[in-house]
Amino acid sequence: MDGMGFRVCSLSSGSDGNATYIGTSCTNILVDAGLTLKDTLDALQSIDVSPYDLDAILISHEHVDHIRSAGALSRKFDIPVYANQETWKAMQQKVGDIAPHNVRIFYTGMDFYINDINIQSYAVPHDAVEPVGFCFYNGNKKISIVTDLGHTNTSIIKMVQDSDLILLEANHDVHMLQMGPYPWPLKKRIMGKYGHLSNEQAGMALVEMLKDRTMYVLLAHLSQENNLPALAYETVTGILLSNGIKPGKDVVIDLTYRNGISSFYHIE
Ligand SMILES: [Zn+2]
Ligand SMILES: [Zn+2]
Repeated sequence: MDGMGFRVCSLSSGSDGNATYIGTSCTNILVDAGLTLKDTLDALQSIDVSPYDLDAILISHEHVDHIRSAGALSRKFDIPVYANQETWKAMQQKVGDIAPHNVRIFYTGMDFYINDINIQSYAVPHDAVEPVGFCFYNGNKKISIVTDLGHTNTSIIKMVQDSDLILLEANHDVHMLQMGPYPWPLKKRIMGKYGHLSNEQAGMALVEMLKDRTMYVLLAHLSQENNLPALAYETVTGILLSNGIKPGKDVVIDLTYRNGISSFYHIE
């Protein structure tokens, strides 16, 4: 008999396109569909998941790096697309026509099921109409996926605590962003309360989020212009260390990538 638990893999992460695979022995979900159709299919093939076996596409918010191929995937492979009402309104034009039976609405803050996976959504502060993060439950296992947020708060921290695996945004290094080529309004937006988490903010959030049971953290949505993988890793692990959490021993800190899949995680 198949055991309980999750399989998790980031197919791509960053402002070019976000998509995360999360599955159990009988369920396959794509969280965000921000890659092109071709890149999504290539990535799914590389982890041996058929698009015909996808049970759902979950949308966190309507920015194009999260929805780019949602419509095409749904039409081609008859996949239900789940988003909250405001996000549906905001993305309807961009994703094109979706068969009525594949238009699924969830309510932010209310949990719902896709087969054997219980899904909890929660509001995050970001400059979209109704952006959310997700927690996934199967048996006693829990996965959290939270990217695209300008800051964290007590309710987000509480929601994500006790996860076995956390995929969390570490978007930029504040110094690189300040010194970098972006125009000031864009810098202000990214650093703002409704922008993106910096490496430091991610590290501080993790100090509060991490509990004994958390085995893995994946740093996500790294900026190409304003971050470096090694810098994100060093900053976050440095903050954890100075707060008595030993990376590599207490928790594994890993990266996601803009041009490729992450490690494949079995949480059992
Ligand atoms: Zn994004
Ligand atoms: Zn966004």
